[in-house]
Amino acid sequence: MATCSSPPIPDKNASGDNQYGQDICRQDMIDYFWTTYGFNGNKAYWENGWGWHDPCNTDLPLARTFNGCYALTYSAQDYLNDAWDAPQNILQWGRRFVRESIDDLRAKCGDGTADASESGGTVELYLGYFYNEAVPERASTLCHEARHVGGKPHNAKFPSGSVYGAGKNGADSDWDYQGAWTYDAGFTAWYGVEGARTTSALKTLGRQIANKILNNAFATHPGFNV
Ligand SMILES: [Zn+2]
Repeated sequence: MATCSSPPIPDKNASGDNQYGQDICRQDMIDYFWTTYGFNGNKAYWENGWGWHDPCNTDLPLARTFNGCYALTYSAQDYLNDAWDAPQNILQWGRRFVRESIDDLRAKCGDGTADASESGGTVELYLGYFYNEAVPERASTLCHEARHVGGKPHNAKFPSGSVYGAGKNGADSDWDYQGAWTYDAGFTAWYGVEGARTTSALKTLGRQIANKILNNAFATHPGFNV
């Protein structure tokens, strides 16, 4: 890659990359993701080893991001209905929220401290996003970063025992703050319960990811798991 190399690639059955990799490898699909989720205009960030010349290769960041885009786009049973109003949930409107929030989506190495970041509508994805996150979490991370767009920062420190680093900044105060972690956990929870076009193993993983966030990313625990 440009200035960093990929780590050993985790089991692609467990991560969902083999499953979703079959679905993304179509030109119409690739074109849709490219023009919908902020890749457009950012080709330079996806060339030179990041996957632009090999967009179906799920060893590479671009196809792995497309897998996340597929999970974001098609995991609601009735995915074409992305209206905001209840009883709709983030599994349905998450795709629209990301589509309307993220202007530019770029691949970078990162410094290992975060999987992704957002500034001024531009979202950067780092090695941890591509290789430490399973496909459902890649979808929910896009919801997370989209929530930061327009000014919704983290507003609390991680609680004691948090896997994200107790006492460090980056948590949300509580569920009702409706911050990036609420969106992140909300997507993976709904995916884990009602996800379509996925597998039972990946839905179980989705619930595990949701619970990891619920148990570690809020200063005041939301009070439930899924
Ligand atoms: Zn964040």
